[in-house]
Amino acid sequence: MDLQPVLNSVARDVAAYLGEGEVARYIPALARVDKAQFGIAVRTVDGTESCAGNALTPFSIQSISKVFTLALAMRSLGDDLWQRIGREPSGDPFNSLVQLEHEQGKPRNPFINAGAIAVADRLVSLHPDPKQAITAFVSDLCDATITFDAEVARSEAETGFRNIALANFIKSFGKLDNDVATVLDVYFNQCALSMNCLQLARAVGFLCRDGAHPLGGGRDAVLTSRQARRINALMLTCGTYDAAGEFAFRIGMPCKSGVGGGIVAVLPDQLTLCVWAPGLSASGNSAAGMRALELFIERTGLSIF
Ligand code: GLN
Repeated sequence: MDLQPVLNSVARDVAAYLGEGEVARYIPALARVDKAQFGIAVRTVDGTESCAGNALTPFSIQSISKVFTLALAMRSLGDDLWQRIGREPSGDPFNSLVQLEHEQGKPRNPFINAGAIAVADRLVSLHPDPKQAITAFVSDLCDATITFDAEVARSEAETGFRNIALANFIKSFGKLDNDVATVLDVYFNQCALSMNCLQLARAVGFLCRDGAHPLGGGRDAVLTSRQARRINALMLTCGTYDAAGEFAFRIGMPCKSGVGGGIVAVLPDQLTLCVWAPGLSASGNSAAGMRALELFIERTGLSIF
């Protein structure tokens, strides 16, 4: 199937929805982003790439980074990772504190902020320079030099009161091995990774290739096929927070969103895609991005179900 005409029609028709939602004002550096932007990129398992709109404009990937840090931690820790992190949807906003108290500092899943902070703690223990390990990992996945946006990272550190609270709360239960400030520095920086739609569609390619490196060519596998399947399962059930049910119902693909307005989606054995539109719905997911994914599914007839 030639996907380019589909992407062109999605980019054209989604323009009517770009006014929807609000940019993430709680991170000052993201509050300035122009809402009238839209990008979409697709990469099929055979390496065919198609793009439309602002697919090459870099944006703040925010919580999409949680897929990469989870993959990096799973590579080294295997099933031990799950001692401190659950695998259930939270049904609460991504930055919620309440469940952590009832569940003694064990975050529900690795895709809410608390879970990603717990994953960052494991990376601090595993890597002498965890931030460098993250940029090296993501850069290798998409064959580009990916860096942190220092201004976004600083902006998050200055205003990330909830994340600071979450990290301290987990620490109070004895479930964070490292210094809170060190763990948060990794977390704020991973959220500030700057990438475009095409780079993201490439970088998550291992999720539609049973864990094999997205770019093939004899490169080492990223994960085992079992691990890749598990990340897809978590993305379907937890990747878009308390809108995960609605995403599964309307789109039916494992997705991971970020408050920068990006959403990555996976059709196992077929393709990965990334959409970007900065206006967010109340659940913190890109409003027009969700519409674009719906149009894509409708026009291609593709689905995991
Ligand atoms: N950096 C953001 C935060 O911690 C990430 C949240 C998101 O993208 N959903 O609040």
